[in-house]
Amino acid sequence: MREALEKIGGEARAAIARAGTSADLAAIDRRLFGEGGEISTLLRGIGKVPKEERPAFGAAANRLKKELEEVIAARRAALVSVEVEAEMRGEGFDPTLPGTRFVAGGLHPITTVRRELEDLFTSMGFDILDGPEVELERFNFDALNIPPHHPARDVFDTFWCESIGLLLRTHTSPVQVRAMERLKPPIRVLAPGRCFRHEDVDASHEHTFHQAEGLVVDRGISVAHMIGTMQALLRGIFRRDLEVRLRPGYFPFVEPGFELDARCPFCDGAGCAVCKRKGWVEILPCGLVHPNVLRAGGIDPDVYSGFAFGLGLSRLVMLRYGIDDIRWFMSGDLRFLRQF
Ligand SMILES: [Zn+2]
Repeated sequence: MREALEKIGGEARAAIARAGTSADLAAIDRRLFGEGGEISTLLRGIGKVPKEERPAFGAAANRLKKELEEVIAARRAALVSVEVEAEMRGEGFDPTLPGTRFVAGGLHPITTVRRELEDLFTSMGFDILDGPEVELERFNFDALNIPPHHPARDVFDTFWCESIGLLLRTHTSPVQVRAMERLKPPIRVLAPGRCFRHEDVDASHEHTFHQAEGLVVDRGISVAHMIGTMQALLRGIFRRDLEVRLRPGYFPFVEPGFELDARCPFCDGAGCAVCKRKGWVEILPCGLVHPNVLRAGGIDPDVYSGFAFGLGLSRLVMLRYGIDDIRWFMSGDLRFLRQF
């Protein structure tokens, strides 16, 4: 048995010294120590050794096992460092290759456009704000110049919570008020987020949808600043200049209030199904912030003015990608989502 031990030891040392790669070495390691490996088998056969020789044999076998493990570890360290260096020198190693993607899936189209908008507005000096989806009646209505019993409350089909004064926000406009209460002018904020309305669901209405609220407050802000910002927004989303027009619109929290339309990006104004043959598509309501709203936010309307807009983010994403039914967004249907 002693000869067997010496034979295994001698051969193993030679093989380890010859191993040219860490893969070769791993194979030797398996041959010695793996399931049914030479050393493992030897140690398991200790019962066949005559009783008086067993302690000496056991000690020798364990010494050899320990020695070979150390030799292998030392050789592995040397081989790996050589291999890493070779890769770094450019032999089969390209540091410019993209990393492994270990997440399967993609971004929802609303997330993609929301992030683009956030980048665009950040580049114009806006802060991105967030607000609660369960909102106080005061922020959703009262502070926006929509007191109780005001007829404008009827157009917002509101989900009321059981607690008095709480609701699911019907628009992102409450973030305007929260921003004015927290920040001092000049204020430039964009607040994208989810909104909720108790509406009959059809191709263009959903109970849950996305908006992005914009607010600018400073000295001497005018409609011209608003139009310029809206043109930058459209250029960012549709990647080209679109002609815009303003129509008067009534929203209690702005004065004057407008509906902003853009030349239909699909037909350039010639008329198509998307723009219902009108050549223009409605983009968003906007206007100069009503003095009552500035006052509710703790800002003096005699010193400051501002503009605000409520961008229908879901609608804009539909326009950008030519999506014909808003219900796709919440459907979770992979056939829809995989197209983006
Ligand atoms: Zn059109």
